[in-house]
Amino acid sequence: MITQTPKGTRDILPSESYKWQFLERQIADLCADFGYKEIRTPVFEHTELFQRGVGDTTDIVQKEMYTFLDKGNRSISLRPEGTAGVVRSYIENGMASLPQPVKLYYNISAYRYEKMQKGRYREFHQFGVEAFGSKGPSIDVEIISMIKLFFDRLGLKNIGLNINSIGCPVCRKQYNDKLKEYLRPSLGDLCGVCNDRFNKNPLRIIDCKEEKCRKVTVGAPSILENLCEECKNHFEGLKSGLDNLGIKYNVDKNIVRGLDYYTKSVFEFISDNVGAQGTICGGGRYDGLVESCGGNPTPGIGFGLGIERLLLEMESQGIVIPEQKEIEIYIAAIGEEADIYAQKLVFDLRSKGIAAEKDLMNKSLKAQMKYADKLGAKYSIVLGEDEIKNSKATLKNMKKSEQAEIALDSLYEEIINRR
Ligand code: ATP
Ligand code: MG
Repeated sequence: MITQTPKGTRDILPSESYKWQFLERQIADLCADFGYKEIRTPVFEHTELFQRGVGDTTDIVQKEMYTFLDKGNRSISLRPEGTAGVVRSYIENGMASLPQPVKLYYNISAYRYEKMQKGRYREFHQFGVEAFGSKGPSIDVEIISMIKLFFDRLGLKNIGLNINSIGCPVCRKQYNDKLKEYLRPSLGDLCGVCNDRFNKNPLRIIDCKEEKCRKVTVGAPSILENLCEECKNHFEGLKSGLDNLGIKYNVDKNIVRGLDYYTKSVFEFISDNVGAQGTICGGGRYDGLVESCGGNPTPGIGFGLGIERLLLEMESQGIVIPEQKEIEIYIAAIGEEADIYAQKLVFDLRSKGIAAEKDLMNKSLKAQMKYADKLGAKYSIVLGEDEIKNSKATLKNMKKSEQAEIALDSLYEEIINRR
């Protein structure tokens, strides 16, 4: 037990972590280009925040949250997603008084008690952005274009973009009534969960993955044909904005997204390679969320992108992520005096930004050279009594079997000149 991670969690080992670091740098650069600043919120929050902010009727809140009482008898939950914490922070820190829109991003771990599958874990990671204060659709276009550019920069191909509008509280209420009328005669054919949804949130029946529910909903009235004037114009604006940037999309009237708080634009980026669930990224507009969490009415929009699923997708498309900076030089030493000299030399090189290594295991010279090879060091030198006395050594190119006599105090310049 104690030598195994809990189900659904994984270590990110050095053989993988350089990929995560690469993505973190890409994300930071992308967000800087689009003017989104990083926000870091706690891993746990009051359970009530998620009940309100993610929605009581969602699978996440009903089945997937890690909830516990802390020692002070407060109900606490590990964050199952990133938006609720950011909304809480926006309100708590009075960000409404900042120039709008407020554009934030996060790169976090999240926790859901789910059945393990490929691309589905209990601890997983999300890159997400949230933008507050703008009604769109210009910012909807900005956010979608940001994800598209992210995929392009990573070299990903064939990621489909599906968009839809699920209206505002006014037109959705009318639509829900129509939908219920359509579904009522077939209630017996729907799954138990959908029977529950029928009164609480009928729109989500459209999203059910159960075959028998899909059969019923296939001919259901579409929300897109029932939008009010304002929502219709907003959706037209989103589409023409995407056209203007040359971003291809599908209108899919069946995406409603799992979370209760969405309004108007919803979207997903999908791939076939990521396992049972192909959604790499999902997002949308949530104009009612800030208010329902206790702030002033504030429009908002965001997305969450699963890092594990992104890495799976990159792998299956054969995209190679560059490895960490390699060891440039290995300083082998024979004897105690040379070892002390090597310690100083290695430190001096490292101080100037050159990745250098020396022996730390009292290895023989032969074993030191073998290790240097294993490390993939580009250069090596061997220090013995003579080298130290004459302040000269042989700089060996490990990959090309070339070598040159150099002065030890010009070692740094010699390496730089050869770069
Ligand atoms: P799904 O339908 O696959 O369960 P979701 O609608 O629950 O996804 P969101 O809440 O929108 O997902 O989260 C955004 C993204 O986070 C998803 O598109 C996915 O890439 C990732 N994600 C969600 N749950 C998990 C998980 N358990 N393990 C790994 N990644 C996940
Ligand atoms: Mg889910």
